[in-house]
Amino acid sequence: MFQRYNGLFRLLALAVTAPLLFGALVSCSNLNGVNVNTGVNLPGGIRVGANKNLGQGGEQTPTNKNKKVDNNVKLYVFDCGRFATQDISSFGLSNDDTDVRELFVPCYLIEHPTKGRLLWDAGLPAALAGKGVQPAGNGATQEYSEGLIDQLSDMDVGPEDIDYVAFSHMHFDHVGSANLFSDSTLLIQESEYQAAFKDYADNPIFNYELYKDLAGSTKTLLSGDHDVFGDGKVKIISAPGHTPGHQVLYVYLNNYGPVLLSGDLYHFEASRKLRTVPLFNTNKEQTLESMDKVEKFLKSTSATLWIEHNLAQAERLNLAPDFYD
Ligand SMILES: [Zn+2]
Repeated sequence: MFQRYNGLFRLLALAVTAPLLFGALVSCSNLNGVNVNTGVNLPGGIRVGANKNLGQGGEQTPTNKNKKVDNNVKLYVFDCGRFATQDISSFGLSNDDTDVRELFVPCYLIEHPTKGRLLWDAGLPAALAGKGVQPAGNGATQEYSEGLIDQLSDMDVGPEDIDYVAFSHMHFDHVGSANLFSDSTLLIQESEYQAAFKDYADNPIFNYELYKDLAGSTKTLLSGDHDVFGDGKVKIISAPGHTPGHQVLYVYLNNYGPVLLSGDLYHFEASRKLRTVPLFNTNKEQTLESMDKVEKFLKSTSATLWIEHNLAQAERLNLAPDFYD
């Protein structure tokens, strides 16, 4: 079954590589529209005014003196694709364990009021955006309506406004627009860096093409948990096993309450309930230990777990440009 899933990734790698060249060209032209900064720059790269969600409604200009800047961390959720498969056995579940067959693929933007922006996970491959339903191998399909870069652009946010990027892990459906963020500081576990950037030829489930532009970017190599902005509000929590350096993200939201973004610690609600481990995980024991660690963390922080691939939950969320704070 691993081979089968593996085959799926290989197929995807092939399907994605050629359109990537085209995708890169498209992305460049998209970027041209993003660089116009009509807003106010705050320390740490936060821009107010050009972003309609940060302003107080209506057109904002740099001379708007009545602008109120609140102190809340904001979390934006983006629809970065869907993945559907009739056979979920590679996820370590029997087809009777759940009737869920479609997975949501999210991207997230976390905006700290004074210290910058973090992009967490980058969705399906950018080249799939706007192409309709596409085969994903073995009868699975994938669909990506509007690329992340365009969704960010709709909010007047460009790659140059993103201070940090971090991915729960480097699988294709989490790094699909990664190459666009090569000027941001990459926060990555050292073990994931080794597997995805150094030993990727031995790890066919990593599609190096999708994130190769980050090879030369500024990196903070992590070996465990990491406080992103230094004030405890946004924390990367190491949770290895799905991949060597898989991680999850804690975000403290003043109004909504604390949230934990699951990465692929669980793909389905049923995975959590049944403590099942996908067949394609790199380490089953480590995954189970990470589940224990994260469940304990959830109890101690009272954080709400958002299973990133949970479509039913995603459909209840307010997507960007709405946000949680
Ligand atoms: Zn994964």
